[in-house]
Amino acid sequence: MKVKNCYICGAPDALHYFEGRSETISVKGMERRVDNLSGWECHVCGDGFWDPNNDSADRYGEAGDELVLAVRKTIGAEMKRIRRKLHLTQKEAVELLSGGGHNAFSRYERGELLAPKPLVLLMRLLDRHPHLLEDAKALAEGADMRGTFSYTVNNDTETLKAS
Ligand SMILES: [Zn+2]
Repeated sequence: MKVKNCYICGAPDALHYFEGRSETISVKGMERRVDNLSGWECHVCGDGFWDPNNDSADRYGEAGDELVLAVRKTIGAEMKRIRRKLHLTQKEAVELLSGGGHNAFSRYERGELLAPKPLVLLMRLLDRHPHLLEDAKALAEGADMRGTFSYTVNNDTETLKAS
């Protein structure tokens, strides 16, 4: 068995080599399994790293990246399905539900951005209870405080001078 002093925490003979390990990465309920990983792991501090002499780190990293992309696309497709079910255009969905830039919804649906958790939750609620869309429209009136304040320039003095 290959053993070294841990150069992370300094514990003697604590860093052990492992190989043939399988790990399952999960992101928001989706999973990817990566097999035949090897690396070093400290039995004292619990820290470790993949074997720098093979492709473990690359394969683990790629599986994670690919999984994040798959999750974004899956949630994006769900956002699109629910929006269409509610008969909303992307623009209407932004104005009513998400806020953000005018193309925010388009980016969520294409999987370029992961929709924020409150928005995903709101869309799933509307998917289950579509009649609540009317309530949402009523409640949205005045819910956004941005742009609430307005002011009027009082130019009485200017008017007096002019007359
Ligand atoms: Zn250690």
